[in-house]
Amino acid sequence: MVRTGVYCRISSDRDGDGLGVAGQEKKCRELAARLGWTVVDVFVDNDRSAYSGKPRKEYLRLLAAMRGGELDAVLAWHPDRLHRSPAELEEFIGVCDEGRLLVQTVEAGLFDLSTPTGRAVARTVGAWARFESEHKAARVRRKMEENALAGKRGGGGPRPYGYEADRLTIRGDEAAVLRDLAARFLAGESLTSLARWLNDTAVSSVSGALWSMATLRGILYSARISGQREHHGQIVADAEWPAIITKEQTARIRAILDDPARKSARTPRRYLLTRLVCCHRCNRPLIARPRGGQRRYVCAAPPNGYGCGRTSVTAEPLEDIVYRAVLMALDGPGLQTAIASAENRDAADAHLLAEQMTTLAGRRDELGVMFARGEIDRATMLAGSRAVGADIDLLERRLAAITRTEALTHYVGDGGALAAEWSDLTGDRQRAIVRSVIERVTIGPATPGRHFDPNRVQITWRY
Ligand SMILES: [Zn+2]
Repeated sequence: MVRTGVYCRISSDRDGDGLGVAGQEKKCRELAARLGWTVVDVFVDNDRSAYSGKPRKEYLRLLAAMRGGELDAVLAWHPDRLHRSPAELEEFIGVCDEGRLLVQTVEAGLFDLSTPTGRAVARTVGAWARFESEHKAARVRRKMEENALAGKRGGGGPRPYGYEADRLTIRGDEAAVLRDLAARFLAGESLTSLARWLNDTAVSSVSGALWSMATLRGILYSARISGQREHHGQIVADAEWPAIITKEQTARIRAILDDPARKSARTPRRYLLTRLVCCHRCNRPLIARPRGGQRRYVCAAPPNGYGCGRTSVTAEPLEDIVYRAVLMALDGPGLQTAIASAENRDAADAHLLAEQMTTLAGRRDELGVMFARGEIDRATMLAGSRAVGADIDLLERRLAAITRTEALTHYVGDGGALAAEWSDLTGDRQRAIVRSVIERVTIGPATPGRHFDPNRVQITWRY
């Protein structure tokens, strides 16, 4: 009697043949019957990654049974079921040699691992199986890279927000939301506040789940919505689908989101004037510090702050005064002219930078085309692409540094409109608006009496 162990393994690389574990076992048992061998044990591993190198429990049990003299022969569907690497094959050969075991496979016949020829055949078959698998992976990688450079859509996953499932057609309602989000984000509103707005107004996400900051960040950061193709986080080409927002907007959004300085300012702030209001004595910014349920701005002395510790002011009436001042300023002609000229300056700068970026992006596209035509090799293309990418990064950073007057433009000359909408605006948006016209608010010395004295407030305007 030939005591035979049958070994089956599921893996992703060859199951395209439709031969699962059940099929493998059936074929092996048929072969055993033909050879007159007796199947005494079946070993099954579920190991979907062909060369992952994770230990296979059942394979180890098989080796132990072979070493322990419990088996005379091993049957498998194909040699590549048994061994995933040359090292594994060598170990297997060693064990077979010791116990004088026979090895048969349905696909590749008998492996007589006791002879040099048999061992050479086994090694060759293993090497080719490995080559094929690696080659396939490289081919897939190359194909994906070519698609990216040609601006073609990538597959897989849920449909992107703003587009239909074909990934090419714009969804009008979602595109409108995206344009709104981009404009508001660039006007200084935070992701937290925008996510809250989406959830409050019941705008549906792709999955139907509530909007998280991470989802929102991913969408706004993605160059897809400005019609650009990314590959491994890099913008590599103009995409085959239409844009929803402009490239310039994407560049500025990414520069802002990449800015390490903003990471510290994540928590929602209930204080309108943080970092804007300062102490008349020491010139340090006042910090938010409520007392007895009342919101206050205080000059904090060490160790809590760097100030003199001698100024404090109740938040409510102070914020009210500043707000009214902003409304009045909006209606004044001086502010209108000042903002208009600042805007023109910014717009001119932004336009110039955007133009330079377009030129650079074009140069990067050209590299892709030259590579596709075979005029340059891959290394040259990648090196060139990296160099251009560095220049683009630089421009993006400069673009983000341009002052954000957008927060306000809507209301210039119309303080009434702002008054009507003010309480509906999120705290971030309110803050962005105040910040765009006011440089700082200095709090003067406290006056005797319990009431708030408006004369303590001195506003420095930006314009
Ligand atoms: Zn102070």
